[in-house]
Amino acid sequence: MKIPTISIPITQILLQKNIQLFLKREDLIHPQISGNKYWKLFYNINFYLDQNPANPFLITFGGAFSNHIAATAALGNEFQLKTMGIIRGEELRNKWQENPTLKLAHENGMEFRFVSREEYRDKDSLRQLLQKEFPEALIIPEGGTNELAVEGIQFMLNSDTKSFDYLCTAVGTGGTIAGISKFAEENQQVLGFKVVDDDSLYNKVLAFSKRNNFKLLEAHDGGYGKISDENIRFINDIKEGHRIQLDPIYTGKMMMRIFEMIENNYFPEGSNILAFHTGGLQGIFGANEMLKKQNRELINL
Ligand SMILES: *Cc1c(COP(=O)(O)O)cnc(C)c1O
Repeated sequence: MKIPTISIPITQILLQKNIQLFLKREDLIHPQISGNKYWKLFYNINFYLDQNPANPFLITFGGAFSNHIAATAALGNEFQLKTMGIIRGEELRNKWQENPTLKLAHENGMEFRFVSREEYRDKDSLRQLLQKEFPEALIIPEGGTNELAVEGIQFMLNSDTKSFDYLCTAVGTGGTIAGISKFAEENQQVLGFKVVDDDSLYNKVLAFSKRNNFKLLEAHDGGYGKISDENIRFINDIKEGHRIQLDPIYTGKMMMRIFEMIENNYFPEGSNILAFHTGGLQGIFGANEMLKKQNRELINL
């Protein structure tokens, strides 16, 4: 069975100063498979299955709260593919059951191997060893970003997205914005909200998209995975006002920055902005556990 294409609704969430802001709800694709992760895996898995492997097996990499690990496990479960996650941090070996992301991935059939941070950093060697051990396996990089992932992002764009002046997405490894940049219309500006503090991202995105229609803006708000009280309040306000759940690692940070930019007149009057809700909602469970330990306000679910 192959992964199907799915069409996704767009919702208006703000009209202020004659600026319209819409959200494309890629989060609605599947409760565990984040929007962009679905499309990043789409061609990778479909091309692999086209080769008719006898025992389809996906191997990928990620941290303990990774949306990509969660998505790969859920897709494996849905389409009957064996999956293995190479997880950063040996300390998790005996306590992964306490981690909501890994627990759910395991329920979806994923096996784990826990590796030290040093081994994890040397992904090329790790990958070669794994491919030797499992010659038939499809090994997908961390975050799922590769050439085929960037191609799959074209499904986030369609006739509904053509009329927008700005296309906005959160940026982690850069694959999603690279695809949006590559497949955007001539007159569209692409804005990427970096949730990681990584100066190499611009060149990485450019190498995939080969267009200069995108800008990267800082949205890390203290660092990858760091959650500010302001952002928690923002996410909870959006939930209350629009019944849309944002996540604290990617989409919450992006949307808070877009609101600020509208406030600060970044966008010319009459602009039509489309932000992609790339999902990531499974990460809220892990975030709330951390917030609870710190006696802080939680993200409402
Ligand atoms: C992974 C992820 C992103 C970033 O995608 P990249 O292609 O790695 O830049 C954005 N939003 C969510 C919810 C994600 O899980």
